[in-house]
Amino acid sequence: MAQPTVAIVGRPNVGKSTIFNRVAGERISIVEDTPGVTRDRIYAHGEWLGHNFNLIDTGGIEVSNEPFIKQITAQAEIAIDEADVIIFMVNGKQGITDADERVAQILYKSDKPVVLAVNKIDNFESRADIYDFYALGFGDPYPISGAHGLGLGDLLDEVIKNFPEVPENQPDDSIRFSLIGRPNVGKSSLVNAILGDSRVIVSDVAGTTRDAIDTKFVHDGQEFTIVDTAGIRKRGKVYEKTEKYSVMRAMKAIDDSNVVLVVLNAEEGIREQDKRVAGYAHEAGKGVIIVVNKWDTLKKDNHTQQQFEADIRSEFQYLAYAPIIFVSAKTKQRLERLPNLIEKVDDNHNKRISSSTLNEVIMDAVAITPTPTIKTRKLRIYYATQVATAPPTIVLFVNDPELLHFSYKRYLENQIRKNFDFKGTPIHIIARSRK
Ligand code: GDP
Ligand code: GDP
Repeated sequence: MAQPTVAIVGRPNVGKSTIFNRVAGERISIVEDTPGVTRDRIYAHGEWLGHNFNLIDTGGIEVSNEPFIKQITAQAEIAIDEADVIIFMVNGKQGITDADERVAQILYKSDKPVVLAVNKIDNFESRADIYDFYALGFGDPYPISGAHGLGLGDLLDEVIKNFPEVPENQPDDSIRFSLIGRPNVGKSSLVNAILGDSRVIVSDVAGTTRDAIDTKFVHDGQEFTIVDTAGIRKRGKVYEKTEKYSVMRAMKAIDDSNVVLVVLNAEEGIREQDKRVAGYAHEAGKGVIIVVNKWDTLKKDNHTQQQFEADIRSEFQYLAYAPIIFVSAKTKQRLERLPNLIEKVDDNHNKRISSSTLNEVIMDAVAITPTPTIKTRKLRIYYATQVATAPPTIVLFVNDPELLHFSYKRYLENQIRKNFDFKGTPIHIIARSRK
């Protein structure tokens, strides 16, 4: 499930974000339309010759108030920490600079594979300029032009060659979940409290890189894996405090999970950053549980929980399906319910409905509220079938997909949810014209 990660590192203006955007392609999404996310995206998915990977532009992670050389040092360290393969980018129009050498020195110290990309080689004649860069000591320099999209294929071929061997698909019945939330909401305390519970047993894990950052435990015979425990238990590095870094880390953990626990702090209420990361979990089609932590800190009356729940529902409208649980890592209130809730959500996320049952529900729904007519054309639904799980994905064969508007789609989704337990999981409904 975990995909390899590629990080681009190099001093400012060599063209990192230009290449990042080219490799990432343009995937329009709800979350990335949110102000602040589009502006300078640093994490995305890439694909080359059937290999999927995560891509990080370390240049987008600014460690505020630090001098230039510290910034670039931190960025190189992030690349080493996060990536399986590093693209070290330099400017072919300028030759080697002190800052390039500084980055090179840091990269030498790691054993991560480094592929050297010489950017701004915009035409064939300037290819002669790349030979100087052998002096950096990273083998063959790959000439590229972000401006013209040249040389990227050869560069990515080399990147892919350096991906770690993927273990033969081992059966993994472990439910992978992550805890996502702003600093200080109590993620680390929750991990400790969950693991400290007497009915859970922490199992030994093999010493691979992947496992070292994840933690496994067993509860009622079900194995769980907490994704990126290392990221949750901070290591005290300077860049961990920057918002960009923590959002990137969270996105990576979400990609690697089946179920995401969006942790909120009851004391502070809901903030912008909470919504952004939760939006990404939704977009990625993961199971989602909203965990309101520090419930012990509120003076409560009969309406406190109801009011909090109403606020969450209005702030996170797209997460209407996510169950909400009010807990305290401190007093352990309701924590014993978490593993079973995660398991339930994971079951729903993987649920498969037979076509016959599904069609009955859809036809009943159409009988109650007939399909809309748009400009004299009436939507006709011929047949429904679930084509995928995790998240459940339903294809409706119709006369014209354009006629399935958002409101009717939502109505159908609600009818499906009334008939089957899909609590905690998004459902994707896709209209296709019948051939
Ligand atoms: P970053 O700071 O490393 O992320 O660099 P950017 O991607 O923001 O690029 C810095 C500048 O270099 C921008 O003005 C780009 O348009 C320009 N640039 C990027 N790639 C190329 C290239 O291949 N050729 C030329 N001539 N300019 C480029
Ligand atoms: P993280 O940054 O999200 O991992 O948050 P931590 O687990 O480090 O917790 C931040 C602070 O909140 C610490 O001082 C914790 O002791 C405190 N804290 C965490 N959970 C609770 C809780 O349920 N109740 C109260 N009162 N404090 C909590």
